[in-house]
Amino acid sequence: MSDALVIGAGPAGLMAAGELARAGHTVTVAEAKPSPARKLLMAGKSGLNLTKNTAFETFMAAYGEAAPALRPMLEAFGPEAVQDWARGFGLPLFTGSTGRVFPKAMKASPLLRAWLAELDAIGVRLETRWRWQGWQGDAVRIETPDGIRSVTPDVTVLACGGASWARLGSDGTWAANLPAPALAPFRPANMGFVLSWSEHMRRHFGKPVKGVALKAGAEVSRGEIVISAQGIEGGGIYAISAALREGAPLMLDLVPDLDIEAVRARLARPRGKASMSNHLRKALKLDPVKQALLMEFARPLPPDPAPLIKALPVPLQGPRPMDEAISTAGGLRFEALDGGLMLRARPGTFAAGEMLDWEAPTGGYLLTACLATGRWAGRAAAEYAAQRG
Ligand SMILES: Cc1cc2nc3c(=O)[nH]c(=O)nc-3n(C[C@H](O)[C@H](O)[C@H](O)COP(=O)(O)OP(=O)(O)OC[C@H]3O[C@@H](n4cnc5c(N)ncnc54)[C@H](O)[C@@H]3O)c2cc1C
Repeated sequence: MSDALVIGAGPAGLMAAGELARAGHTVTVAEAKPSPARKLLMAGKSGLNLTKNTAFETFMAAYGEAAPALRPMLEAFGPEAVQDWARGFGLPLFTGSTGRVFPKAMKASPLLRAWLAELDAIGVRLETRWRWQGWQGDAVRIETPDGIRSVTPDVTVLACGGASWARLGSDGTWAANLPAPALAPFRPANMGFVLSWSEHMRRHFGKPVKGVALKAGAEVSRGEIVISAQGIEGGGIYAISAALREGAPLMLDLVPDLDIEAVRARLARPRGKASMSNHLRKALKLDPVKQALLMEFARPLPPDPAPLIKALPVPLQGPRPMDEAISTAGGLRFEALDGGLMLRARPGTFAAGEMLDWEAPTGGYLLTACLATGRWAGRAAAEYAAQRG
């Protein structure tokens, strides 16, 4: 029996801890915050989207450049396995119209409660207010309320999360403990964008914009967006946020189910005494918030406004601050890890979850990959410890 240390009690760390304990190792989870999985609980506030029911290759494509590195982990523990796992805690699930899978309770607390009880029952020890501070030689340095501790576990799994929502623990400060060449810079992912609205838009703050298509380069999203005092947020923009972050301009299609000729034909209908606003509403079913967007970025309307209605340029002023992002890109590069997610430069230390350099849109892809990599790293660490033991 070997001693295993897991650093970070988010979904990736808890998954790794379970694998190690079930393999017979003595497991301690060191968590910097006073309680575990704060980000998971926050994720549940707006409906915990655990995973997505879709064709496996479509699912994999969401991970973009990181898909080849993540493939074996997601083949071993993909959307179906995530659902079986959650049901194993007695949690009924449901699949929404877009394939997103949620617990019926929507929130994360019932899942977390059952999960922590299971880990406790198999002997996992959770130490809160224990912050990993790097290494001194082979010893892992941990800051605790009683001072610095040096521990020398047989294996360690790092699962410290990304670099957003620092108040929930995922502050990215762990990066200072690792060699710079092993790290890709953190960048916000699934984030809102800044826009300076005119006074006319003020009455639309907080309102959703439904039934639009957002385009950024080759990426297209049909999700909902929300107008906020600071700019634009919501699933529709998060889905294409990586392309926008890399500089692609945002174009809004206000009537994605009509082609440009259909828009022209409808606008050419006799207008009578109707104001332009009434005409747009009747001919194209443009609601007040869509009309406000059109006027915000295309006033005065040209004689043929159809091209602008189909591709309205929205002059974004950059991403919202990284700390507000749902997730972050960047972190530990896969090249710094072997096939078992072990740090090449530090044998016996593994890494998992959002601290690895991958990104994906919201929609259950984030949690699924955190669980899958946590499980993978935990299993590889258990095997490594068993071979050494
Ligand atoms: C508002 C919001 C909604 C979301 N909704 C969804 C959703 O519906 N579906 C989905 O798939 N994803 C969602 N996510 C993303 C998802 O919650 C994260 O991707 C996931 O929690 C990452 O898991 P993780 O275990 O890698 O890291 P985290 O959950 O961030 O956990 C890392 C843990 O490590 C601890 N830690 C950090 N540094 C140290 C250290 N030095 N020493 C000790 N402990 C340390 C932290 O305190 C933290 O508890 C959402 C995120 C947010 C912010």
